[in-house]
Amino acid sequence: MSQDDSIDPPMKYTDYPFDDMCKKAEELINSAPGKIDVYQKYTCSGCGQRLTMDTPNVFYVTGSCDKCPTITNIKEQGCNFLVHARSG
Ligand SMILES: [Zn+2]
Repeated sequence: MSQDDSIDPPMKYTDYPFDDMCKKAEELINSAPGKIDVYQKYTCSGCGQRLTMDTPNVFYVTGSCDKCPTITNIKEQGCNFLVHARSG
């Protein structure tokens, strides 16, 4: 038995401080009004599921999971976001 047998988890997502992401997203949205949608992304603190909010341009401080009953404290855990350019 080796004590050095560390295996990296296969899924590693990058999340950033909530306030930073809000600010960044806001800047992006304001830089191209009406042309960009951002969707908040976060990782479930219960099961590790990667989740994306359905509502664009809204940043939630908590989020529920579709795989388990955990409510993730996004504000504490951090998040990321997805940028969608609107066509038309
Ligand atoms: Zn979950």
